[in-house]
Amino acid sequence: MLQRTIAKAVEATGIGIHKGRPIRMMLEPTGVDKGISFYHAKKEIEIPLSVGNVVNTAMATVIGRSQAYISTIEHFLSVLYAYGIDNIRISVDGDEIPVMDGSAISFCLLLDEAGVRMQQQPKRVLKIKKTVEVHDGKKFARLEPSVESSFQFRIAFPHPVIQEQSHLYHFGKRSFVEEIARARTFGFAKDIQSLQSRNLALGASLQNAIGLDSRRVLNKEGLRFENEFARHKILDAMGDMMVTGYHIVGKYVAFASSHQLNHALTKEIFSQSGNYEIMPIHALEDACYESHFA
Ligand SMILES: [Zn+2]
Repeated sequence: MLQRTIAKAVEATGIGIHKGRPIRMMLEPTGVDKGISFYHAKKEIEIPLSVGNVVNTAMATVIGRSQAYISTIEHFLSVLYAYGIDNIRISVDGDEIPVMDGSAISFCLLLDEAGVRMQQQPKRVLKIKKTVEVHDGKKFARLEPSVESSFQFRIAFPHPVIQEQSHLYHFGKRSFVEEIARARTFGFAKDIQSLQSRNLALGASLQNAIGLDSRRVLNKEGLRFENEFARHKILDAMGDMMVTGYHIVGKYVAFASSHQLNHALTKEIFSQSGNYEIMPIHALEDACYESHFA
């Protein structure tokens, strides 16, 4: 399997969830081995995607460099993970990636519109060789060696709609679109006032998130899946693992993980060279691995 970029430039506009302002996002193809790179068009600063460029993980995953930052990159990155895109430039004229409907499905449609172009170098993946784990009290995130890429996420909220729920997803591009991409981010009405008083979540609405009061879902249309919350956590985790720049061959397992813990996990991977191997996809034990990207 060869490296992939998009076949043509495409763009989308949408509001940013934190500042509530419209953002124009442009996707451009780039050359072999260029990797994933963000560009803050107003500040004219390039921010290559890397674990070292993550500057904040409190509300979303944020990368930054020399006075410029771009927030909420994780939903878009989950789609690059699923579509197997290795080389792309994402340009935005603001400080965040548009939130769209709070899920990743609009970005899937955007990539479908752009198309995928194969490039003349083998695709490389990050194969987990030794189990790596990070925790914070009972919360944890772990990557175990496996012949496949899978994500198992469990959450427990003392809320009648959420309670304890989990989801197990075996990686595949098509199953991503069906199972994961449409799962929306969520928030509690009781938190929104305090966030907005701190100038956060100014763009949040029932058009781009599942809203919950103390008893029920506030969105008229209800949930898209019974365990939409756990599925969205997988979407976030895939995006956060993509910050490594690679598709990860391994089994991700988490309980109540956050962007912060996911970021700690990616740092932990790279903390010891024996934890992982970057290898061409055709050298994996599973000779048919690339069929997952079909
Ligand atoms: Zn999210």
